Amino acid sequence: MIQVVGHTNPDSDSICSALVAADWLKAARGYEAVALAQGEVTSETAFILEQAGVQAPAICESVAGQKVWLVDYTDLTQAPRGIEEAEIVGIVDHHRLGDVTTTNPLEAWIWPVGCSCTILYHLFKMENVEITRANAVLMLGAIVSDTVAFRSPTCTEKDRVAAEALTDIAGINLDAFCDQLMQVKTNIEGLSVDSLVDRDLKKYPMGEDFVVVGQIEIASFDQVDDKVEAMQAELKKRCTEEGFKLSALMVTNIATSVTKLLFQGEWSEKLAAHASEANIVMMENTLSRKKQGWPWLQTVLG
Ligand code: MG
Ligand code: MG
Ligand code: MG
Repeated sequence: MIQVVGHTNPDSDSICSALVAADWLKAARGYEAVALAQGEVTSETAFILEQAGVQAPAICESVAGQKVWLVDYTDLTQAPRGIEEAEIVGIVDHHRLGDVTTTNPLEAWIWPVGCSCTILYHLFKMENVEITRANAVLMLGAIVSDTVAFRSPTCTEKDRVAAEALTDIAGINLDAFCDQLMQVKTNIEGLSVDSLVDRDLKKYPMGEDFVVVGQIEIASFDQVDDKVEAMQAELKKRCTEEGFKLSALMVTNIATSVTKLLFQGEWSEKLAAHASEANIVMMENTLSRKKQGWPWLQTVLG
């Protein structure tokens, strides 16, 4: 049995990719496979699952001694417990290559596209496997989410080709679907400050040290004006309690493509020259952590 599992603090792509990849492994390869998740789904993912008529994957406790297929990451910091004692048999991902290594040859599909589900769509095509409506909705939802309705600089022609074909199979109105999905994506009402920081938090190694960078997507900065102070305090707490050299949160306005980068920690001084006010850097035309926020931070942190 192959356990197909996405990254920690799961976003829509890591949930949808796990579900779809498990089906692909069964249909295209005849393997036994099950999708798992490293945490509860967000309301955005719940919306996609509901549209697809699919249940959320079960929670993954440990993968020790199991065969594992990674979707949407290749970093050990984002992997489930027990990964050192697991056999990684495959990867579908669209991020820079992380630090996983394997003892046996593996199947790795890593493309510089906007979404892991875009790669999966092309794998279905490659293997001539029929795409069900449910899987079409899951893949389309993940692509719309990851590419911020095709507006992110991470979006490629392959994502657009996949989305067009998947829209036909899903039999939905793409514009309406994008509008609805962006509305749930940016709805942060009722969420606590620590859950907002955690929601899409990623831990990156830098030499011997670690930094964390989260991201929340909103439709207007009014939504967070009264939360910035508490968010800064929460980021500071992460550094004190968990020893991170920097903890940062990209607060991204998807309507204007402006990101406010909040940051705390010992390495804050390296960012000070770029700050417009204390512990905040304004980043124009910035929607993507992978292509914009994180590469910029890596350069500045040296
Ligand atoms: Mg992801
Ligand atoms: Mg992704
Ligand atoms: Mg993401």
